[in-house]
Amino acid sequence: MVEHAPLAAAVSVPPRRRIGVLGGTFDPVHIGHLRSALEVAEVLALDELRLMPNARPPHRDTPQVSALDRLAMVEQAVRGVPLLTVDARELSRDKPSYTIETLELMRAELAAEDQLFLLVGWDAFCGLPSWHRWDELLKHCHILVLQRPDADVEPPDALRNLLAARSVSDPQALVGPAGQIAFVWQTPLAVSATQIRQLLANGKSVRFLVPDAVLAYIEAHGLYRTPN
Ligand code: ATP
Repeated sequence: MVEHAPLAAAVSVPPRRRIGVLGGTFDPVHIGHLRSALEVAEVLALDELRLMPNARPPHRDTPQVSALDRLAMVEQAVRGVPLLTVDARELSRDKPSYTIETLELMRAELAAEDQLFLLVGWDAFCGLPSWHRWDELLKHCHILVLQRPDADVEPPDALRNLLAARSVSDPQALVGPAGQIAFVWQTPLAVSATQIRQLLANGKSVRFLVPDAVLAYIEAHGLYRTPN
């Protein structure tokens, strides 16, 4: 006998998706990025958290660490971690992308009710007012601010009004596809890519600060052996 699906199931809308994005130079990617990404993805029950390496202005690129090397390291880092994916779209453009433009492109690919979460470290969040069209970011996404152990406590004046109007205390209470700000506490790991580059340039080990696969890539390609 043929069974018919209930009518409600046949016409039901697909479930709303929850997508996170963590942009960064990832020069190189390290456990601070990765633990934050994974913890946020799990706590907020995201369907996917995309690590998105930024294109850098040409004058900052050193010959030994190309955009392709940074991308390859991020790909190695997330291999076997289903919640974390890599989005290389900003590297495939021939100029540095503005975050607002990337968000507009991503929005166009999502359903209207899908939730988009932009993750930014506290340091990056404090610099938000200098971003291109920064006052439009919340039209496209929610902003999740990652607390970094070395962060200043006070936000800059330019962000006070925005925080007063848009922040919610519980990141799990963010509603709708976009428009709010929440702070997320994750395991504090005071690791930075700067520190890792310095250690390597001084011939020191960065074992346990980056995933083993990233360490293997750095060693195989002789990256970061000289100060930049
Ligand atoms: P650099 O030392 O070269 O400035 P970085 O370690 O800050 O690099 P980025 O690639 O610039 O790394 O950071 C990408 C994003 O990840 C930023 O929003 C940054 O604030 C955040 N982030 C970096 N390190 C940590 C960390 N240890 N804990 C939480 N967030 C972090």
